[in-house]
Amino acid sequence: DNAQPKKPDWIRVKAPVSEGYKQTHKIMRDHKLVTVCEEAGCPNAGECWSQGHATMMIMGGICTRGCTFCNIATGRPDTLDVFEPGRVADAVQKLGLNHVVVTSVDRDDLDDGGAEHFAQTIRAIRHRSPDTTIEILTPDFLKCDASALEVVVAAKPDVFNHNLETVPGLYPEVRPGARYFHSLRLLQRVKELDPTMFTKSGIMVGLGEDRQSVHQVMDDMRAADIDFLTIGQYLQPTPKHHAVDRFVHPDEFASYEKAAYGKGFLMVSATPLTRSSYHAGDDFARLRAA
Ligand code: SF4
Ligand code: SF4
Repeated sequence: DNAQPKKPDWIRVKAPVSEGYKQTHKIMRDHKLVTVCEEAGCPNAGECWSQGHATMMIMGGICTRGCTFCNIATGRPDTLDVFEPGRVADAVQKLGLNHVVVTSVDRDDLDDGGAEHFAQTIRAIRHRSPDTTIEILTPDFLKCDASALEVVVAAKPDVFNHNLETVPGLYPEVRPGARYFHSLRLLQRVKELDPTMFTKSGIMVGLGEDRQSVHQVMDDMRAADIDFLTIGQYLQPTPKHHAVDRFVHPDEFASYEKAAYGKGFLMVSATPLTRSSYHAGDDFARLRAA
């Protein structure tokens, strides 16, 4: 039975019609850049793009993994484009971003998982836009040796984000090919390598987890010294993807947010439409001003 719970009225999205949206769209097209906003069918694209916020996805639009919640194509990835870091940097400058989020598909086909490409992209943005804060949302580098992570950290992004995506009990059905404790340890190592770097992670809810396990994930994240947390409602991209188990009520999100601050996270976003990169720049600017 594939019957899905009905979308509640707190899941509302703005139509993408503004001039700002069209401008962002054009800059992405002109620079041949892939965005996770489009690939993942993010419900916030109307709002984010109208303000020039977009999350760029480097290393192509085809992933070597096949997470069951994710709308990105799986298969043999594209060859790495050595000019891409420069195009990303150019687009960031044209968009005039204060904060940029760069993510990628998983590249299990590359020895370094794409670490050097990430580092080059960070350096290219830094060179062209020295005042822009840079947040990266990376894959887990599961099949690489330790030096891959060191290469990325050495390029000094301001925020190192890697999503745990769900509670450990749901990994086999939601995130096959990934390991919960490997991902936690990855973020802990970032902090060990550079204690000044902010670390960030997030999960989706509504996949079948219970409240207790959400609290356990938060505790695990704090034990790994993770600074920022995002929690958002899972939405099914197509009927072939993992089913929505339930729509979590905004009050439950509010209780997660409160609990998370109590556990010591520096910045928390927990709402139905929270995404890893939603308002990331505004939140980070607030934190730095505080
Ligand atoms: Fe893009 Fe993130 Fe905004 Fe969604 S929340 S539209 S992925 S920048
Ligand atoms: Fe999607 Fe990332 Fe999983 Fe690839 S590794 S399928 S891009 S969530």
